[in-house]
Parts: sequence; structure tokens; C-alpha cells
Amino acid sequence: MTKPNHHDIVVIGAGICGATIARELLECGKSVCVIDAANSAATACSSHAYAIAHPHIGKGSPRLLRLTRLAFLLAEARWGKTWNAHGIFLPTKKDRTFNRDEVSAHLRSLNLEKDIAIPLDAKEASSVCGVEQSGVWIARGASLDLSQASKELLSNHDGLTCLWGTQITCLENVEGIWRLKDNQGHVVVTAKKVVLAAAMGTKPLINSLGLRLPLRPVRGQLSIFSINPQDHWVTKLPRVGISGDGYCLPALKGNDGIYRWMVGSSFDEGEDDLVPRLTSDDFNREQAKGLVNYADGNVKHLHHDGEFVGVRCVAGDRLPIIGALNQRPGIFIATALGSRGILWSALAAKLITAQLLEDDFALLARLGFASDLVAALAPARFLAGALAAPGALASNSKPILPSEPSAR
Ligand SMILES: Cc1cc2nc3c(=O)[nH]c(=O)nc-3n(C[C@H](O)[C@H](O)[C@H](O)COP(=O)(O)OP(=O)(O)OC[C@H]3O[C@@H](n4cnc5c(N)ncnc54)[C@H](O)[C@@H]3O)c2cc1C
Repeated sequence: MTKPNHHDIVVIGAGICGATIARELLECGKSVCVIDAANSAATACSSHAYAIAHPHIGKGSPRLLRLTRLAFLLAEARWGKTWNAHGIFLPTKKDRTFNRDEVSAHLRSLNLEKDIAIPLDAKEASSVCGVEQSGVWIARGASLDLSQASKELLSNHDGLTCLWGTQITCLENVEGIWRLKDNQGHVVVTAKKVVLAAAMGTKPLINSLGLRLPLRPVRGQLSIFSINPQDHWVTKLPRVGISGDGYCLPALKGNDGIYRWMVGSSFDEGEDDLVPRLTSDDFNREQAKGLVNYADGNVKHLHHDGEFVGVRCVAGDRLPIIGALNQRPGIFIATALGSRGILWSALAAKLITAQLLEDDFALLARLGFASDLVAALAPARFLAGALAAPGALASNSKPILPSEPSAR
């Protein structure tokens, strides 16, 4: 049998997360081998063409708010020149009244300067966004085709090797070198450092290391609706993205005069079935009414024209799991991106690269990665107490962190 190829750095998973990390490492002058079970990049959750990005502005979860601000700036630095910069409007919750001074003070407390987030009353929002309801306008909010972005990140590069159609089922350490094995038990490659960016597929890989992480699937379906040009819905369609209870993109008018509008999404906890459901479309029709504040809208006039179904990977505390796995030196994890694939993959690329290369911590501090934020993302929050010896199991499904409201 021929000796397996050796790589300094292997990334398992070629979705948006693995692709962004691999590109960051390439940009730092490193060679990287990316391995994916599928035959090309972005075939799983990152086949999603309609993902949005904006900093979170809700109340509570201060750590989540700081992280999403930081991640948004990193994502903007990576994709800002090419993503769809239509802006995102965040409507005031239906049970709250709009108070401009209060909202402005809250935004200031989050370090969201006026060029990122501004409060709008219903009249202003109608003129800026085409929706008559108060809220916060994120002019730099945008959407990104994750599939296209992943493929671009993994486009030809001298330092990049891609192994497609290769499922890794087990990791084993022999004298400081990681052996990555397939389901026949054959060593596919060996590596010094391995990044696990395989979404739910990270779970069995971690199990093979004798550890457990509390990862859960959450199915989601987005709907694309078509709307006839004479329909009253046309007067309600937004010119911008909206993110509230669900989210939608700006409606687009086709050459045939028909409007197409992407609205989502269902959030089916614990499910991983990719078959489209009529009930999910109906759920999205109801969300559509709420998003554009059109309670009387006849949902029958939102005609089904397509959908995207994906399975998010989420952790017990709804934050991503990003960082070095100190219990198994040389292993790094970037998973549980939940519904924030754009933000968390941009953040994971910086954090994993700095930890893996052990040379960029000053830059991380300058970017705003305070140590409590790094700790909030670290795999160790689920593994404290795990013994360093292979075979030790950490059964904690709850994170070990100072308590704080969990993030969805
Ligand atoms: C309905 C819906 C709406 C969403 N909306 C948004 C949004 O508006 N904004 C946003 O930012 N995000 C959004 N997301 C989330 C976003 O799509 C995901 O967070 C992101 O795509 C996850 O990327 P990933 O690279 O972690 O995982 P994936 O894209 O799932 O990639 C994992 C890869 O690992 C590979 N793999 C797995 N196991 C193995 C193995 N053992 N060996 C080799 N390869 C393996 C798989 O083949 C796959 O290619 C949404 C998701 C859904 C479902």
C-alpha cells in the first residue's frame, strides 16, 4: 500500500466555514488540504444562496451582541465588495413602542455608530425601505450567496489541495501526527493540524477522539414566492432585506413582470429531513405578512416558486463552537454556525488561523477579540472536566460559563 500524503494543515468540510478558514490560511502563506465527503464545495447547508448578514441589536445577551458586531465587520471586510449591499431593516418588535432616544442610546451602548445602524420611525422607514413600520436601519447589511462564495474561496491556488468525495470517519494520533481514516479504516492523509469544519459531521469525528459536543440539527426552509404585477401585495413588497420574526430579501421584478420574493424561514428543532414541506411554505407566508406589516394580506396570492431546505448545526447555548481543542493538541473546531453562517465563518477564519499559527494574537486583540469572547466560543466550555487521555468522555451538554441569556 502507498504511504498516505502528509499535510501540515487539513480542513475537513468545504462549506462556507471550512472554505473561509482555508482561504485565510492560504492568504497567510500556508498550504492547506481541504477534504469533503461531497464532490464539490458547498453542497450541504452552504448551498444556500440567500443568506443575510447584519449585527444583532436585541436586548440582553451582551456577549452575543459584541460578537455579532465584531463578526459583521470581519464579514464586511471579506465580502463587502461583492455581496448584495441592499441594507437590512430590523423592525421594532410588535409589542414595543418606538422611542428614538431610547433606541439611539441602546445602539450607542453597542458601539454601533450611525454609519452602521440608525433608528427610523414608520414614515422614514416607508421612504427609505418601502415598509411602513418603525425600526433600525442597517444600511451596510447585505446578503450573500454562500454557495458561490464558498466556491470562490476554494478557487485554484498553488497552496490548495482539495480531496473531494472523501468522507473521514475517524481521527487517530500516533506520535504527534494525526491520521485521518475513511470508513474502511484506511489512512487517507496524515496531518500535523486538523480543522474540523464539518457542521453536524463534526460530531462523529469528535466522538472518535473520545469526546462529545452537544450539537443538534435544526431544519429550515426558505420559500420563494411569485406575485402577479397587479396584486395588492406589490405595493407592500420591500426594497431592502428585513430581519425580524423571520427574514426576507428585497423583491425582484423579472422580465416577465412577475415579482419574486424570498421569505424564510422555518426553524424545526431536532429535525434533519431535507424534503420540502407545504406546511413550511405556509409558515413562511404568515411570516411574510408580519415582516412587511400587512396583516390583511391574502397569503393565497403568494405563489410557490421554489425553496431552499437546509439543516443548521447548533450548539446547546446557540453560540458557535470555534477554537483549539486543548484536550487534543493539533485539533481545531469550527462548527455550530446556526443561522449565522456568514458572520461566524468570517470570525472563525480569523480566530482559528491565529490559534493555529500561534502568531497573531496581537492582531486578534486589535480586532476586538477580548479574552471573554474567545472563551465564550471555545470548545472547552462544553468539555471542562474531560480528562486529557484519549477515551475520556465529557458528558456535559450544558456550557460551563457565567450565566447569560442564550442566543437563538
Ligand atoms: C433555512 C436556513 C436559513 C439560513 N439563513 C442564514 C442567513 O440568513 N444568514 C447566515 O449567515 N446563515 C444562514 N443560515 C445558516 C448557514 O446556511 C449555515 O450556518 C452555513 O451554511 C453552515 O456552513 P458550514 O460550512 O458550517 O456547514 P456546511 O455547509 O453544512 O458544510 C459542512 C461540510 O462538511 C462536509 N462533511 C461533513 N462531514 C464530513 C466528513 N466526515 N468528512 C468529510 N466531509 C464532511 C459536508 O459534506 C459539507 O460539505 C441559514 C440556514 C438555513 C438552513
